[in-house]
Order: sequence, then C-alpha cells, then structure tokens
Amino acid sequence: MSDATTKLPVLTDGFQRTVRYLRVSLTDRCNYRCLYCMPEEGVELVPRADVLTFEEVERLVRVMMRFGVRRVRLTGGEPTVRKDLVTLVERLAALGLDDLAMTTNGERLVELAAPLRRAGLSRLNVSVDTLDAEKFRAITRRGDLPRVLAGVEMAREVGFTGTKLNCVVMGGVNDADVAALCDYAWPRAIVPRFIESMPMSDGALFTPGSFVSAAQIRARISDTFGPLVDDDASGIAGVGPARYQRVASGKHSGARVGIISAVTEPFCATCNRVRLTATGQLHTCLAVDDNSDLRTPLRAGASDDELAQKVLTAVTGKREGHSFTTCGTGGPRKHMVAIGG
Ligand code: SAM
Repeated sequence: MSDATTKLPVLTDGFQRTVRYLRVSLTDRCNYRCLYCMPEEGVELVPRADVLTFEEVERLVRVMMRFGVRRVRLTGGEPTVRKDLVTLVERLAALGLDDLAMTTNGERLVELAAPLRRAGLSRLNVSVDTLDAEKFRAITRRGDLPRVLAGVEMAREVGFTGTKLNCVVMGGVNDADVAALCDYAWPRAIVPRFIESMPMSDGALFTPGSFVSAAQIRARISDTFGPLVDDDASGIAGVGPARYQRVASGKHSGARVGIISAVTEPFCATCNRVRLTATGQLHTCLAVDDNSDLRTPLRAGASDDELAQKVLTAVTGKREGHSFTTCGTGGPRKHMVAIGG
C-alpha cells in the first residue's frame, strides 16, 4: 500500500506533454473587479463550505508532488483575501517544493509581503495594468495604485526577487502604457509581462474591438525601445506560459519582456500545467469548462492512491489545444476567478 510520499511516474498526457506545474486557486473572491475579469457586481460566489480547507489543499498538493510536480502557484480570485493565507503558505513551503509562487493584485502586499516571505513564499507576480492612478481605478473599478506600488516596493525591501508584473493589454484603454510599465519594471529588476485578453465568461467581458495581439504589443515595445530579440529565458525563475524577448541594443539593451499570447500565438503544444480551483476541481485547460472533481472523493475518504488515479485520468484526457478567438469566442463559460488565473 502506498502513501503520500511514494513516488509515481511523471504525469504525461496523450500528446506527450508532461505536467510539472500546478496552479492552486485559494478563493473565487476578489477585492477588485477588473474590466476583463469580473462584472462590476461580482459573480455568484461559491458557498464557503465548498471551498477546500487548508488540509485539503495541502493533501492535494502532496498527491501532485508524488508525480514530480515541484512548482506551485497560488492564485484566485485574489489569494490575499483568503483568511490566514500566511499559515497556508507556511504549510505548503514545508512540503519541499522547488518553487512556491503567488499571483496577486498587490492591494494587500504592504502588510503581507514580509510575513509571506518569512512563511517561505518564493516569488510574486503582481498585476498592474497601468501607472496612471485614475485609469488604474477605472480598470480595477476599486484599486488603489499608490497602495499597490507601495506593496511592490515592500516586496523588494523584504527580499523578494524574480518578481513579474502582469498587464492585460486593452486597445484604447492601456495599450499606450506598455512602455511606461517597462520603464517602471526594469530598474527594479522586475520583468514586465503583457497578456492578450482572453475570452473567458462566455465572451461576456470581452470587447473584440479592444483586442491587442502579441504582435501589436511587441511592435509597441520596439517602437519605443528598439528591436527585440528572442530570449531563452535562462535565469528566469518559474518560467510559465510567457515567451520572453530582450531589447537588442541601446540604453535598455538586454532588458527582458514577456508576452502571454494565448489567443493569437497559443502555446498549447508546450503546456505543462493544470489548475486546481478553490472548490477542488482539476482543470487541465483554462480555456474549457471540463474539469475533474477531486473534492467529492477527497471528502468521501478516498485514499491518496485513489486521488492520484483521478489526477492521472484527468491529465491523460488533457485536450490538445483550445480555440480562443480574437472576437471573443472559444472560451469557457466559467469566469477566470472561478477557475483561477
Ligand atoms: N487577483 C490576482 C491578480 O490580480 O493577479 C490573481 C488572479 S488573476 C485572475 C490572475 C491574472 O489573470 C491577472 O494577471 C489578471 O490580469 C489575468 N486575467 C484575468 N482575466 C483575464 C482575461 N480575461 N484575459 C487575460 N488575463 C486575464
């Protein structure tokens, strides 16, 4: 009989991709209402009793670790609104992962950066779509930019390195802010990453006319900083879905930028990740509603081996690719916050 420490073969799907990376959503709740992510009135929240407890999250992470998964990213919703987050980070850090990162809107980093660092969090991605405070409030519908930037500084002060800044680019909203975000990030040793808007929520939050492609984002960056050259991303901790490039020459020579181009230049062929929702559903693709319920067997007393078998079956059925389109179709009915960004 095996237990939570017995190793299993790496998770390989039907297209010979290996899953090595788990994103764990800690909550579907968020203190922001970003235009592209949540309707202003919010979304129907899941009952709290359905949300995995810390014990349950830890158990499922341990099951994934048996398959050799060593990289975990905490997300949401907004992970920092989850009560006692620091305690969970301590527990997960004690499992011996290679990388335990978190994606956050940064609103609570001023008070949480130091305790999260002490708890063993490895790295942070902070979402900042503009450096214009009024625009920031309009995009997030409630965010406080100076507070977020103070949180980014606090993260640096307490020793976080390898921080990334995430920006979803929207035409006529913040596409003109791309260069300013690079100028902010680079001197702070932060890598800016620009994300194509994905048609989640059955396309309901997607404004086709405002879609900005990866090619257009690259053109904006090189218009300001000169040509970009492909980068092998060596030295970047926790390389995820972004493709990296560097400024080829000039004042910013060598500065890095990442682009997440799920719509126009999908990276499904190299997808190495799965997502666990706050309620214990395993999604092998962000772009579709299909998922495997791990919470029900978990709460019904399934053994670690039985849970591992469920994971294996889900990964074996991972789809080859998705069909996001630039006109807002091809995505899941679910909201981003329900799956975990
Ligand atoms: N609340 C945290 C945050 O703001 O970073 C973590 C969750 S959020 C869903 C994770 C990332 O997904 C953020 O960088 C956000 O900008 C991005 N995101 C949300 N909706 C998106 C969409 N429709 N298309 C592309 N990226 C999106």
